[in-house]
Amino acid sequence: MSCIFCKIVTREIPATIIAEDDYCVAFRDLHPQAATHVLVIPKEHVASLNQVTDPLLPGRLLCFARDVAAAEGIAERGYRVVLNTNADGGQTVFHLHAHVLGGKAMGWPPG
Ligand code: AMP
Repeated sequence: MSCIFCKIVTREIPATIIAEDDYCVAFRDLHPQAATHVLVIPKEHVASLNQVTDPLLPGRLLCFARDVAAAEGIAERGYRVVLNTNADGGQTVFHLHAHVLGGKAMGWPPG
C-alpha cells in the first residue's frame, strides 16, 4: 500500500500523532494553515468522501474531530472541519481526512 496516510496509521512514516482510537488517528498537519491544524483520518483506507459506503464512518470521524478540537482548547472559540474532495475541492492526499482548523477567526466563503 503506497498511501502515505496508511503509512502514518501503521507508523511506517513519522507523524505527530496526538490521538487515536479503534477507528481514527489524529496528527498535526505538516504544513499548518492555522495555529491549530490537525488531520483526522479513518484507519481504514477510503480514498475520499465519495467512496464512503458505511455511514457510521463519517460520523465517527466527525465526532473524533470534535473531541480533538476540545482537547486542543479551540472548541469554545470555534473551529472549522473541512473535507476536501477531489480536484475542485483541493484534495491532494487520497485517503479520507478531516482538517481541524482553529486558533484564528476564519473568513467565509473559502477561496
Ligand atoms: P488535502 O489537500 O485536503 O488533501 O490535504 C492534505 C494535507 O495533508 C495537507 O494539508 C498536507 O499539508 C498534509 N500532509 C501531507 N503529507 C503529510 C504528512 N506526511 N504528515 C502530515 N501532514 C501531511
